[in-house]
Amino acid sequence: MNGIDGLIVINGINHFPISWLHSKGFCEYQLYLEKIKKIKVEKTAEMIIGKQIHEELEREFLEQAEEEMTIEEALIRSKETGESFFIRELETISSKYGIYGKIDEVQIFPDNILIIDDKPGSVAYQGLIKQVAAYSLSFSEEFKPDRDIFSVLRNRDTKEVFWCQKFDKNLLETVVKDIIEIHDLIRDVRLPESTTNPQKCLKCRFRRVCDRSLA
Ligand code: SF4
Repeated sequence: MNGIDGLIVINGINHFPISWLHSKGFCEYQLYLEKIKKIKVEKTAEMIIGKQIHEELEREFLEQAEEEMTIEEALIRSKETGESFFIRELETISSKYGIYGKIDEVQIFPDNILIIDDKPGSVAYQGLIKQVAAYSLSFSEEFKPDRDIFSVLRNRDTKEVFWCQKFDKNLLETVVKDIIEIHDLIRDVRLPESTTNPQKCLKCRFRRVCDRSLA
């Protein structure tokens, strides 16, 4: 089963990257072709540029960073002093759900926490919502914060928030269903579904190798 790029096994538990939820939201069959069947296609220019912009944002943030502290310390201190703390590129892992990833930005306030995913566009597609919800779930499981978490999608270039929702039971249930389905794909006990939207196939970088393409 292993040999799947990105999949790590800790204490016998599969952990997959949270970004896979984005791919699944676009088309589960695309995720299956890329990760399970290991079919290689060229990265798009948008993906390459996006990675470069991401790295540049992180570099700028690190140059301005003032203090080093753990998340646990930031949670305690913000409660005690009313301060706010912003953390970039926070690694998170949840063994309960078998997911891991890097959160673009976490903003810790005395009364709540924002889990922010920076995106190139401003449309809250289901895949993006599930991805940021999974980051929120993983953070919540790992650090067990004593305040509300809000999942946030923010435009990478304008910094405008285009979607924000409290990480509640409904959001949790939506994303856990997808997480279970991906684990089932990895264990080869689920047949992948493909999109019914030809517009997605038109934009898909796998369309030339996909036997279910509608474009
Ligand atoms: S071509 Fe269409 S069906 Fe095939 S992987 Fe891409 S989006 Fe899915």
